[in-house]
Amino acid sequence: MCADPVSPAEPSNKLVILGDGCAALSLAQHADQLSEYQITVVRPEGAPPERDHIWGLWKIPGADHTAGLERASWHRWSIVTNSGEAILQSDARPYMALNRLSWTGACRDIAARAGVAITSTMPDREAGYWLDTRPAAVPEGMMLQHFIGQEIVCDDPVFDPGTAILMDFRTDQSQGMHFIYLLPFSEYEALVESTLFSPTRCGDDFYRTAIDTYLRNIIGVSHYQVSREERGTIPLGILPRRDPSITGLGGNGGAIRPSSGYAFVFIQKQVKALVASLRQGRVEVTVPHRAVDLWMDAVLLSVLRHWPEQAPQLFLAMARALSGDEFARFLSGEASWRLRAKVVMAMPKLPFIRGLLRLMVRSHAAKPAEVM
Ligand SMILES: Cc1cc2nc3c(=O)[nH]c(=O)nc-3n(C[C@H](O)[C@H](O)[C@H](O)COP(=O)(O)OP(=O)(O)OC[C@H]3O[C@@H](n4cnc5c(N)ncnc54)[C@H](O)[C@@H]3O)c2cc1C
Repeated sequence: MCADPVSPAEPSNKLVILGDGCAALSLAQHADQLSEYQITVVRPEGAPPERDHIWGLWKIPGADHTAGLERASWHRWSIVTNSGEAILQSDARPYMALNRLSWTGACRDIAARAGVAITSTMPDREAGYWLDTRPAAVPEGMMLQHFIGQEIVCDDPVFDPGTAILMDFRTDQSQGMHFIYLLPFSEYEALVESTLFSPTRCGDDFYRTAIDTYLRNIIGVSHYQVSREERGTIPLGILPRRDPSITGLGGNGGAIRPSSGYAFVFIQKQVKALVASLRQGRVEVTVPHRAVDLWMDAVLLSVLRHWPEQAPQLFLAMARALSGDEFARFLSGEASWRLRAKVVMAMPKLPFIRGLLRLMVRSHAAKPAEVM
């Protein structure tokens, strides 16, 4: 945690946010609650062009972070392996998809109307309080989630638009834990993503071949067109800040959940707490994960790094043990102790004992990035 006093009456009421992505705009869109601050969002030098992608997340009852912009939602989702399938259902917490560019565009408009300056000119470094949302450097050897996703349109009605497939492990497992993520927008259209958890990104052909093979052999698609492609590499672990002299926020503030790469809802939690502190004249950014969840994630990642062949049975066992609401709460960082215990009880014990031992040995001997 980082706490610094800010006196709203002084020039230090200037708030400079480096970066104009998810975390920066999540904060900027709350500018109407922060009228004592003069907020500037800076698109930094060297920033790559913003590209569209889908954010998938579970809706939190009573909290709408999406400004009503959801593209689609599913009350049912599944985990599939060669040996079976688990289908989960939740009325209260549907899984939903959000297009990045729609959401960031809406946030920019809300922020601009509330007086936020959005600029590419770097303000005087002395002025006000700074937050940095630029991504941190990723050390060699760290566990990564890496993927290519394609939005496709088929000639035939092949998808079940009622069920999102969160993980289908019936794909090439030779390069580490690998699954297909499939969000059906209609019977004809879907986002189909080839996702790996491993320390090394593959060549683009690997993911594209996996998507094509899955569509043809598992779904039975004969003709399809790719309307959009997205890609990402998400570091799975808490990293040192990009610039130790500036408070980090978002991915650069520890918001990415190490076991899943999910960050959107965690960024909203982090920003909500930051807004509350700013309203009291303080700037406090906290890592939006509980220590016990980070510890459980580290053990899981140790298993997935060293014994990726265990992944299908682990995730299937977890999905079979939980209700849809529990699954959504666990992955959204809202697990109670009882729910955590239920997850632990559902897991095969031997891989986790080995994972824990490996983690303990590594913590003593290895470079920090190799610990998970
Ligand atoms: C393709 C993709 C799909 C994802 N899908 C999901 C999902 O489904 N669900 C989920 O919860 N999370 C998802 N994530 C993870 C996470 O939600 C996003 O990465 C989220 O955008 C993180 O927010 P942020 O503000 O920390 O970083 P960003 O939104 O990436 O913002 C970073 C800022 O830094 C700037 N910047 C980047 N590189 C540089 C540089 N070299 N120099 C200077 N400035 C730079 C950018 O222009 C931007 O302004 C996904 C990530 C990616 C990349």
